[in-house]
Amino acid sequence: MTKELICISCPIGCHLEVTQKGDEITVRNNKCSRGEIYGKEELLAPKRVVTATCPVKSDLMLRIPVKTTEAIPVELINRLLEELYKREVSAPVRRGDIILENFMDSGIDVVSTKTLSG
Ligand code: SF4
Repeated sequence: MTKELICISCPIGCHLEVTQKGDEITVRNNKCSRGEIYGKEELLAPKRVVTATCPVKSDLMLRIPVKTTEAIPVELINRLLEELYKREVSAPVRRGDIILENFMDSGIDVVSTKTLSG
């Protein structure tokens, strides 16, 4: 089985050709080793950094932007979004503040990407 993927590890976006034969996975057309890691991971256990918004108690805005500190397995994204959409954050919030800690024991936090004074 061969899949064509675009590496999203940097803005260059190499067009990868990832082939799986039995247990062996080979990655071609990658300009660097990160592309090989990405191609293999994408075939075996795809992950994504998640960006979203959470409701916030503030006079200035209704929702605050957040993101995961690392990529999480794709199959956990819906559960994470459900959790974030019902969570209410209270201002003040600083960029980098943890909104949700250690999601499902993954070791990955969700942090605010915006500072909101009140
Ligand atoms: S393979 Fe390397 S150079 Fe190409 S997009 Fe991925 S990270 Fe960037």
